[in-house]
Formats: sequence, C-alpha cells, structure tokens
Amino acid sequence: MIDFEKVIETAEVKCKEQGGRFTLKRKRIFSKLITAEKALSPYELADSYHNEFGTKMPVMSIYRILDFLEGMKLVHKINSINKYLACSHILCSHQHKSPQFLICRNCQKCEELYLKKPLLSELQSEVQSSGFQLTTSYTEISCLCNECSSKVFLAK
Ligand SMILES: [Zn+2]
Ligand SMILES: [Zn+2]
Ligand SMILES: [Zn+2]
Repeated sequence: MIDFEKVIETAEVKCKEQGGRFTLKRKRIFSKLITAEKALSPYELADSYHNEFGTKMPVMSIYRILDFLEGMKLVHKINSINKYLACSHILCSHQHKSPQFLICRNCQKCEELYLKKPLLSELQSEVQSSGFQLTTSYTEISCLCNECSSKVFLAK
C-alpha cells in the first residue's frame, strides 16, 4: 500500500525545491494518478475530474498540468499508449534514474522498473551496432501482465 498523504507531501516539497507551485488543480490531478495505481490518459483524467469535482477541466489544461508534473519528475509519460503514470519512486531517497516501463498490451497496466546498468549498456550497443540510435533515455516494453496472460491461457 502507498502512503498517500506522505506521497502528496513529498511531491509538494519536490515542486518547491524545483521552483514549481503545487497548485490545487495540479495536486488533484496528481492525486488521481496516485490513487489510480495505473496509467491514465488526459481524457480519462478529465472525465474523472468532472465526476469528482463537478466542474469540467479542459483536456488542454490537463495536458499542461501533466507536462508540469512530468517536469517535476512526479509522473512519467508512457508514449506508446499516450498515458501518464505516477512515479513509483517518489518516496525513495535514491536519485531518480532513467526508468524502463513494462506495459501490458491487454489491460495497459504499467510498471516502472530499473534495469541493471550492464543490461542497458548492452541494449544500447546492440541497437547502435544494428545501425540505429535509441531516441529516448528509457524504453517501453510491451508485454502481458500475469493476470492477462493467465486469461489468455484459459481462453485457449
Ligand atoms: Zn519514476
Ligand atoms: Zn526507488
Ligand atoms: Zn494485463
């Protein structure tokens, strides 16, 4: 279980340290991502915001808030599915490294993880020797979560 209050408190401190303001709207959007415990799209966030607070928040504003939160390293954008995931290392004291993301291609559940350095360097050099360059500092790995893979198995 995540310590919700502590995460919010820490997020606020992190914003301050980086010269950003953790406004009420930013806090609400961030809280949604924390409680969702999965990646959400700006449209899903807009719907959920409307349901909870009874006011509409334009998707453009949500994008701006997400941009801000991403800049503060509190959320991560999962490019391949165009959704945002709350960072799972907010309460950690270690430095934030370049994460990798596992994305279930069935239910789109995401997981942030750190692969060991040698593995990453190997990936990098393999990519380069194949005549390509990695375009992002992280990678998104398409897979099936255990739950979905057991369903797929049962369906056979
Ligand atoms: Zn993170
Ligand atoms: Zn950590
Ligand atoms: Zn899944």
